[in-house]
Amino acid sequence: MEKKESRNTRAADTAQRNLFDNDHEREKDRQPVVEEIAPREITCRSALNRTKIPGYDYCMNPYVGCTHGCVYCYASFMCRFTDHRGNWGEFLDFKINFPDVLARQLGGRSRRKGKVLIGTVTDAYQPAEAQYGITRSSLNILVDHPLLEVHILTKSDLVRRDIAILHKLTACEVGFTITTMDKNISRVLEPGASPPDLRLEAAGALMKAGIPVWVFAAPLLPGLTDTEAALKTLVCALQKTGIRKIEFGSLNPYPAVARRLKSVYKRNFPEALPKLEEYLRHPDGCREEIVSRIGRLSF
Ligand code: SF4
Repeated sequence: MEKKESRNTRAADTAQRNLFDNDHEREKDRQPVVEEIAPREITCRSALNRTKIPGYDYCMNPYVGCTHGCVYCYASFMCRFTDHRGNWGEFLDFKINFPDVLARQLGGRSRRKGKVLIGTVTDAYQPAEAQYGITRSSLNILVDHPLLEVHILTKSDLVRRDIAILHKLTACEVGFTITTMDKNISRVLEPGASPPDLRLEAAGALMKAGIPVWVFAAPLLPGLTDTEAALKTLVCALQKTGIRKIEFGSLNPYPAVARRLKSVYKRNFPEALPKLEEYLRHPDGCREEIVSRIGRLSF
């Protein structure tokens, strides 16, 4: 097991979708945050874009905005590039022509190769994907391009719906971001995402189908998810599911993120606020402590 502190067709296959829905009665468990949001249809000029994210060549983001609405989301800077007035997590645009643009980019004589990361400033499997199927349609296109390695990072169990397509890809890996097994903490910090136990179940289902899976435990939050007890609980749950690759990551205290977190801590976790404030004052020292805590975990 790795120990590392780091870092359209518009129509989806209705039969598959219904199957997924029936299988997931516990979707009721999801937070209602997204229910009132009316996604807006937009078009895009490019679907496959170059990325500077280390280890990847391209990124794909079928949506603008993310109704998972994570309090610590670094991608909230995307608000600047839209005309939405709402806060991050309270709006969503879906790129209606995304699969068509992708097919055009990959068509002709272009034989692109490299690693594609799906979901860098949005989650490609946020709840709206169950309706719009843009990610699913895009994966179907990638199946015909064996030189591209597909990587997905998500906080949703909806990815289970596409196991059959993921299977057809030449190379594919799915990362689940899971920072805590505590549903109450998760509900506050990641209000629109699948509860952590459902993410883990999805990870197990993918592994059973032979799809490589890893877990990104980041960002670990001071006094909440970075404590020895919280880390032990998380690692135990991951081990039980058979996950062998875990990457840990600490918080990047961007000013906007720090402001949001302070306010959420004050309202929901006042007892942990001093830990957050200490981290914001001395991030490097606190990171070293997190690394030692992770090092002491036996896995
Ligand atoms: S799932 Fe990812 S992109 Fe979506 S809000 Fe959370 S951190 Fe941001």
